[in-house]
Formats: sequence, structure tokens, C-alpha cells
Amino acid sequence: MDVPPQLAAALPHARAVTVLTGAGISTDSGIPDFRGPQGVWTRDPEAARLSSIGAYLADPDVRRRAWRSRRDHPAWDAEPNAGHAALVALERAGRLRALITQNIDGLHQRAGSAGVLEIHGTMREAVCLVCGLRTPMPEVLARVDAGEDDPPCPVCGGLQKSATISFGQPLDQDVLDAAITAARGCDLFLAVGTSLTVEPAAGLCLEAVRAGAPLVVMNAEPTPYDEVADAVVREPIGRALPALAAAVLGGAA
Ligand SMILES: [Zn+2]
Repeated sequence: MDVPPQLAAALPHARAVTVLTGAGISTDSGIPDFRGPQGVWTRDPEAARLSSIGAYLADPDVRRRAWRSRRDHPAWDAEPNAGHAALVALERAGRLRALITQNIDGLHQRAGSAGVLEIHGTMREAVCLVCGLRTPMPEVLARVDAGEDDPPCPVCGGLQKSATISFGQPLDQDVLDAAITAARGCDLFLAVGTSLTVEPAAGLCLEAVRAGAPLVVMNAEPTPYDEVADAVVREPIGRALPALAAAVLGGAA
């Protein structure tokens, strides 16, 4: 992996790496990037509408389609890849300050990562919009398979949705605060597979840079933070991330 010599020399000394991941780390697992140039939302505005909280609350047809879309999500059959595994290795070696992800697919946890800060929530749980009850998503999807178009909360009868942050919904402030603290408290910030165009995730890079941490951007496409990054890596994540993790763990970059 090609990084400037000064950064390469610093990598083995990183003791508190904070990592932010986006859709690009999951494409090797067969999960499409919804926002990228070839993204589902970019090509199909109606798909984006399914992820708007306003439309979801107002339109039973949107909810019916949203449940089918959750059931058919490629993440249910997806396996974590070498990029996910590299971050598990960093964590197990005690070198990871935090793993923050914009992804909702749960693949970091399936790979073995603990304490993942999921700033956009998770598709692996459903949440009741009235009483807040959280239920494993497969249980609710079983009701969809059994013929319910829009399964209500089993406790209060309220509308349920996936425990993800839809357009128009606020982020979880506790998760966001933990992410900001981790960005400010790291000695290396690594942004992987994210276009860094969605706030506040993107601003975490600046928090880290202002706190004096080197920034590595690993993404196939240019990002608005490339100019302030200490290294920009365009190689495929499935190769570059294991190489970078190995460099931190004492191997060659
Ligand atoms: Zn409820």
C-alpha cells in the first residue's frame, strides 16, 4: 500500500485508531452502495422515498414496500469480508479507539467487532415508533412472510420500522457524542469506503484533524477531505485495509 514515508513510519506507533466506515467496505460483501455514482438512490429516487420518515408515516403503501425491501435486503445473505476482518484484528490487538460506521448492515458485528458506533442505526432490529420497543428484525420479517403488510407493535399496536435513521429523523445523540469523542481522542483517523459527503459523519474527520491526528482517506472516489488527508488510498479496500492494519500491527505497509 502506497502511503507517504512519514505516515508509514508513524503507523506502527498508532495506539488509538478511530475508524469511520461507509458503504464502500460492504460492496465486496455484495451490498450495493446506495449513495455512490452507481447507487440505488442515485438511479432511483423512488427508492430514496422509501427511506423518508415523512412518506413512511403518511403512506401505507410506502410502509408495505419498505417491509418487502427490508426482507429482500442483500445483507441477510452477506458475509463479512477481508476489510471487516482487518478491523477486528486491530481491535483484538488493543489498537482500536473506536469503530464508527454509517452502514446499517451489521457486518462489522458479524465479523466480530464489538462496541460498534452505528450512527445511522441498524437494519437488524425493528423499533416501535410509539413505545420504542426493539425487536430482532427477523421476527418481524417472519410476520411479513406470513402475510402481514405492515406488522404493528406487539405491545402497543404502534407503527414499526427498521431501527435505522431515515431521512428526516434525528441521529442518536449518545452515539454521535461517543463518535465525536473518539474522533478527538484518536492518534490516527481512518475513513474507509465513505464519500464523506453526509454530515455529521464527514465532520468527524475534521474533529480528528483539529485534534492533531493524521487522517487517512481510503475510498475509490475523491472526497471533500482528500486535501486535508495525510494519505489518500484509492486501492480496493479489500486489499488496502488489511495492508494498513498489518502496518499498524507492525508489518510492512
Ligand atoms: Zn409499541
